[in-house]
Order: sequence, then structure tokens, then C-alpha cells
Amino acid sequence: MADLETFRAETRAWLEKNCPPSQRVPAEEFEDTCWGGTKWKFVNQEQKDWLDVMAERGWTAPEWPSEYGGGGLSREEAKILTQEMARIGARAPLFSMGLSMIGPALLKYGTEEQKRQHIPNIVAGKIWWCQGYSEPNYGSDLAGLQTRAEDKGDHFIINGQKVWTSYANLADWMFCLVRTDPDAAKHAGISLVLFDMNQPGVTVKPIRLISGKSPFCETFLDNVRADKNQLVGEINRGWEIASYLLTHEREMIGNMGQSTAITKGLHEQAVAQVGLDNGVLADTGLRSDITRWTMDDMAFQLTAERIGDETKAGQGTGAASSMLKYAGTENNKRRHELLLGIYGTQALAWEGEAFKGGQMASQWLRTKGNTIEGGTSEIQLNIISKRILGLGEK
Ligand SMILES: Cc1cc2nc3c(=O)[nH]c(=O)nc-3n(C[C@H](O)[C@H](O)[C@H](O)COP(=O)(O)OP(=O)(O)OC[C@H]3O[C@@H](n4cnc5c(N)ncnc54)[C@H](O)[C@@H]3O)c2cc1C
Repeated sequence: MADLETFRAETRAWLEKNCPPSQRVPAEEFEDTCWGGTKWKFVNQEQKDWLDVMAERGWTAPEWPSEYGGGGLSREEAKILTQEMARIGARAPLFSMGLSMIGPALLKYGTEEQKRQHIPNIVAGKIWWCQGYSEPNYGSDLAGLQTRAEDKGDHFIINGQKVWTSYANLADWMFCLVRTDPDAAKHAGISLVLFDMNQPGVTVKPIRLISGKSPFCETFLDNVRADKNQLVGEINRGWEIASYLLTHEREMIGNMGQSTAITKGLHEQAVAQVGLDNGVLADTGLRSDITRWTMDDMAFQLTAERIGDETKAGQGTGAASSMLKYAGTENNKRRHELLLGIYGTQALAWEGEAFKGGQMASQWLRTKGNTIEGGTSEIQLNIISKRILGLGEK
């Protein structure tokens, strides 16, 4: 305990000294949180400095092994770091699919060579990774995927199409599910390979979304090369790794939306809009909705912390990630719907100065995507009923 208190004091002092002022205010725009990679444009020098100092300590990936550039912290120390960052309102220095998806999979299933090549770059935010899982007709039914990889000795040649590939237009590398044995049973002939997006044969076409932005793409793969040393795990055994990676993705998506500036202080925002009556929020319907949501949110935070504490370091949360994903994203949707309740039609402003150019409306619409990406809410409920509650498998 004394060691942890010393760690807390040192961390607090270090953060005070090293976290720049502009990185201590909640992120409002996508660009406010760094995603790293060769195409990333830092919004200011402080964003870059913050990434660099945190990455130097491995604190972009606090619990990853220090031999690959991670922070090497215990779970207790990592929690203290999170608490101390929250105390000063520090933003995450880096957010990426490297940190939350392919990194954990490589640490568990990757070769020593793969870990040495990729993990330090993920920690330092040098490479932007994208996820090549979904295909036209194969989203929920992912194991039906048709993109083929042919064995050419020291490399694979890949042909097919991926869809809904978030940020493929900005990514440097893809982790990609491919079919390596077309004759095997559906789940059995799949492999996970890594390749450089910057090569002939990779064509990326952005898709415009309901929120007005185009963060995801159709990705066409025509004779794309992946070296054999970029096969993760065994050939045709990729489904197990893909599923493990998904548990990390689901956990990450479940936690999204906790720190957006726009939803901070829902009760205070409601008071400012509708006023008080006898010391309580004047609108009784809104009052009970906010109270119910706040209680559900607190229960979610406590459950997430408990599941995290019960999880062996670096092993992921297994099927419980589906609970976190389902509850976290459904709560997040309700959180944004409450804002609509508070501001009424004003919250639907789409552009102009009011409500920062339509952020409230576009973020509300984006929360609907949270309940689809990484597996829809219905798919999470299927997993919870089968794997956690043991229903339906007689
Ligand atoms: C914002 C966003 C980002 C994304 N980013 C990526 C990415 O980077 N990389 C990537 O590979 N993919 C990405 N996706 C794709 C995502 O994983 C798929 O959209 C998702 O898995 C659902 O697949 P689908 O769109 O094909 O819908 P479908 O599978 O066609 O589902 C349609 C509807 O049917 C329901 N349904 C389907 N099967 C069942 C079942 N067995 N039981 C009950 N209901 C069922 C679904 O719940 C859904 O409501 C992203 C999606 C979104 C929205």
C-alpha cells in the first residue's frame, strides 16, 4: 500500500509537470484525441508533446510489458494512473485500434518477431491500424467471409472486398481476416494476416454517413501481398484469434462516450434549460429520466470495474465483454437522447454557431453506430444468453 501511495504521489507530480494545458480539457472534436499513424495531423504542438512524453513511459499502454515499450504497470498502478489523469481532466494521449484491438491479440498470439516489430510502434502511435473484418453480406455472420488468401510460398496473395472499414483512408496497416481453406467448415478455414495498406492493389473508397462524415470505407483488395511472417497464429486457426480480438474491441466500445464534453453534467445542463421548482428540476419527466439514467450509468461503471478487477492481466474479459458492450452502448445512446430531451429542437441544429456546428445532433446519430460496430446489440444478447446465462443449448 505504501508503494502504491508513493506511486500515486509521483504520478500526480509527473502529470502536473508534463500534461500540457490544452490536453486537460475534454475532447470535443474527433481530432482532439490523437489516433497516431503517418497521416495524423496534430492539432497543435501540445498534442504531439503529450503523446511523446506518455509514450516514452509506455503510459499509452500502461499494463503492456515494458520489454515491448509498454508501461509494465500492475492493474492497481494503472488504475491510479487513470484516476490521476481524471483528476486533472487529462485526455488519453492516444486512441487507436492498435491499442485496443490488434495489440492485445499480438501480445497473446503473435510471434516474438511480430511483437518486436509492431508493439513498440503501437505504443508510440506511429502506425494507424484498421480492421478488415466485415464484408458485404458478412457482418453478423462474419465467419462466412469470402476474401481469399492464396499461399504463394513465402507470402499470401489476397483478393476480395471489405466494407465498413473505419478510417481505412487514413490507415497504414490492416489486420485482416481471410479465407485460407475454402473447403474447410466455415469457421475452420480462416486466418488473420497483417499487411501494409500502402501497396498497389489496395483501393479505399470512403462511405458518407448519416452524421455527414465519412470515417469508414469500402476496401477493395486486388492481388494484395501479405508476407508469411505477418500471419498471426496458425494458418486456418484465425477464428479463435479474431474472437479474442473482438472481446477487446467490445470492451473498448462499451467504454466509449464516457468523457465527451457535450454530455458532461446532464443535470446541470437540464437545470440551466428548464429551471428549478422547489429546489428540484422543474420538468418531472426529465427529472426521472436523468435519475434513472444516472443510476444505470453508476451500476455500469461499478460492473465494468468489477469485471476489470476479476480479469487476469492482459487476458481480456471473454464473454463478459458482450455485457460491457451491450450495456455501455445502450446507455450511451440514452445519454445522448437525454440531451435531446433537455434542449428539444435546438439539439437538432445541424450547422452554424449554435451548438458548435451541429455536434449534438451528429454525436447523437453516431451513438447508433456504437450499437452496431463490433457486433450488434442483438448479437451481444445472443452471446450473453448462450455463454453467460447458458440458455438455448440443450
Ligand atoms: C460505426 C461503425 C464502424 C464499423 N467499423 C468497422 C471496421 O472498422 N471494420 C470492420 O470490419 N467492420 C466495421 N463495422 C461493421 C460492423 O462490424 C457490422 O456492421 C456489424 O457486425 C453488423 O453487420 P452488418 O452491418 O452486415 O449487419 P447484418 O449482419 O446484416 O445485421 C442486420 C440486422 O440483423 C440482425 N441480426 C443479424 N444476425 C442476427 C442473429 N443471428 N440474431 C439476431 N439478430 C441478428 C442484426 O442485429 C441487425 O439488426 C462498423 C460498423 C459501424 C456501424
